Amino acid sequence: DLVYLNGEWLAPENAKVSVFDRGFLFADGIYEVIPVYQGRPFLAEHHLARLHNSLTAIGIVDQGEHFWRALINELIARNKLSDALLYFQVTRGAEAKRSHLPEGQPSPTIFANHSPLSVHWNTPEPAKVVLCDDIRWLRCDIKSISLLGNIMLKQFAQQHNAIEPILQRNGYITEGASSNYFAVKDGVIYTAPANHLILPGITRMWVLRLAQQLGLTVREEPFPSADLAQLDELFLTSSSREVQPIAQIDDIIIADGRCGPITKQLVEAFHQSKRAHLA
Ligand code: PLP
Repeated sequence: DLVYLNGEWLAPENAKVSVFDRGFLFADGIYEVIPVYQGRPFLAEHHLARLHNSLTAIGIVDQGEHFWRALINELIARNKLSDALLYFQVTRGAEAKRSHLPEGQPSPTIFANHSPLSVHWNTPEPAKVVLCDDIRWLRCDIKSISLLGNIMLKQFAQQHNAIEPILQRNGYITEGASSNYFAVKDGVIYTAPANHLILPGITRMWVLRLAQQLGLTVREEPFPSADLAQLDELFLTSSSREVQPIAQIDDIIIADGRCGPITKQLVEAFHQSKRAHLA
């Protein structure tokens, strides 16, 4: 098991960074997660575009697509990965003194490792979410390593036996703490627009495309939390969960609590697109 740290390949226990790293002191950095199916990265170009956007947003120079492609390939090859989640993190780097503004131009700390991924081929069991106020900041489009809000919300969800908190801001659903949502009402699929209030999920983007290909009606517009009780279907998307049906929000059972037909259609379309990717 090898991890990458600043140009070196190391055993995980030997990968160490300075306590002066701005990632440690300020959470001054960003990350990216890319799924790998049977040794092949899935939708890598989209993940690398988002990584580029996160880096640019916080003023760290991107190492460039060539660098990331090579790193992805080496991470897969050195660890002989089949199904996995690749993790990439870039922080602004280390300096001798803690100050909010870096004094020089520290060289970024780049870290990469992997974790197991269980790829879904069946429809997952519909799960429970809890509705929470979105206590996070207003640049959720940046995949920041500062995840305190997300962690607190996830702790709350766990305490309430839910797989995820679903977040509302000013009366509208934004996303989950590590997922995007799709709500179905009267045959129309709603998902929040990709603005500063959500992370533009790659799975979200992919499911939007699949829905369009299937001729389903999708509206990228904010969905009011007051209307959740009237929903026909709800599901979450993320790289690790893929398409996850939701049966319950707090004490509200959605429709009959089973996976709805549109969700099912998209779960199957997603599986089909994975098969096409592997073919
Ligand atoms: N929203 C947030 C806040 C996330 O952290 C994530 C991923 O972890 C997502 C959405 C889903 O993004 P993706 O589909 O690219 O995994």
